[in-house]
Amino acid sequence: MARPSALVRPSRWSGTGPALRDPASPPDWYPDGLAHVWLPYAQMKTAVPPLPVVATHGSRLVLANGRELVDGVASWWTACHGYNHPHIAAAVARQLRAMPHVMLGGLLHEPAARLATRLAALLPADLERVFFTDSGSVAVEVAMKMAVQYWINSGVRGRTRFVAFRGGYHGDTTGTMAVCDPDDGMHRLFHGLLPEQIIADLPRDEETTAALERLLGERGDEIAGILVEPLVQGAGGMLFHDAAVLQRLRALADRHGTLLIFDEIFTGFGRTGTMFACDAAGVVPDILTLSKALTGGTLPLAATVASRRVFDGFWSDDPMHALMHGPTFMGNALACAAANASLDLFEREPRLDQVRAIEAQMTTELAACRGLPGVVDVRVRGAIGVVELDRVDIPALKARFVEAGVYVRPFGRIVYLTPAFTIGTADLARLTGSIVRVLSMR
Ligand SMILES: *Cc1c(COP(=O)(O)O)cnc(C)c1O
Repeated sequence: MARPSALVRPSRWSGTGPALRDPASPPDWYPDGLAHVWLPYAQMKTAVPPLPVVATHGSRLVLANGRELVDGVASWWTACHGYNHPHIAAAVARQLRAMPHVMLGGLLHEPAARLATRLAALLPADLERVFFTDSGSVAVEVAMKMAVQYWINSGVRGRTRFVAFRGGYHGDTTGTMAVCDPDDGMHRLFHGLLPEQIIADLPRDEETTAALERLLGERGDEIAGILVEPLVQGAGGMLFHDAAVLQRLRALADRHGTLLIFDEIFTGFGRTGTMFACDAAGVVPDILTLSKALTGGTLPLAATVASRRVFDGFWSDDPMHALMHGPTFMGNALACAAANASLDLFEREPRLDQVRAIEAQMTTELAACRGLPGVVDVRVRGAIGVVELDRVDIPALKARFVEAGVYVRPFGRIVYLTPAFTIGTADLARLTGSIVRVLSMR
């Protein structure tokens, strides 16, 4: 028998807004489900109970009681075309009838082949060899294995460590936790399990550049690669840096003969204003990871893309030089069909113009947060809007946002918006207006 979850408090189950149809009776699947599902990043005993959601459309979440919330998060910024885009739905339905899935062990299918070809054409220079996986963390794991094995295959010994950066986030698996920010990440908690990596400051100025240069000079021959989220460090706090930082990293990687890896899982597919952040920076990495918006927020899929130089390190008559990785569901045909349909939409619809319009509207409307008590910074880049505070009462804020009819999910010390690129101006104004109003009430 399941113990009834402490989370099931009927009066709290879906906020307290006046539009509640029947706040006392959640849907029949909810109480038992809540007693069995383990939710992410949540203390199950004390966390605010999750909202029961039954449908989505455009930029809206539809709750079980019929209430609609304007979604400011787009499901961890995946749903770039809004929810339920008919073009993606039709492509997935077609693929479901033809062939939902076959393994890529010894087989290849059209959706994966076309997607790899299209990604190679979209990405700069010779980033042209695509390894599919099913989540962002695993795409980063593969990038790290690829880099380490590249050196082994090239006959270079001892290059097994990575340089990553404070403020960074690269995933939740064992390998990727070790390259996340050590303060926010799980370094301490999982000490002993995690491989030891090198966490540095981004080379933003002379001092930090000199420090990184010194580090590479001293330990360069241990380092398989430098791993960075280009332009925006996302889940680590939505911290921005400029193209010069990435140009410095490229120069340092070249000078010390190591690989440069861009984790574009957050920034890829238009989020920062160009199709990929590396386009805006004018810097080509040796390996690049993608996921999040790859399927327009519909199905899990990720990709690790290697440059010709890296792939050439695996091109050999020796079976031991093959890349030693192969997730069961890699290149899932439904997910690849969704991703191809998502790329169609980037071609047919003015997504990057929409990102520019969102950037302009958020810049204007979030400016009203400057000067509010406790607001430390307001910043916008592409379709990313951030209000940084000196401290945040997260449960209280979350409840106020739901009352205001929006889904906004603060973390750390920030309140942020990463809406769908298709969001209407009125819905976006509802999001920014709610942030201004809720933060004024603190
Ligand atoms: C979300 C994210 C990941 C991890 O992706 P998952 O699909 O959650 O494993 C890795 N890197 C970056 C930059 C991300 O934003």
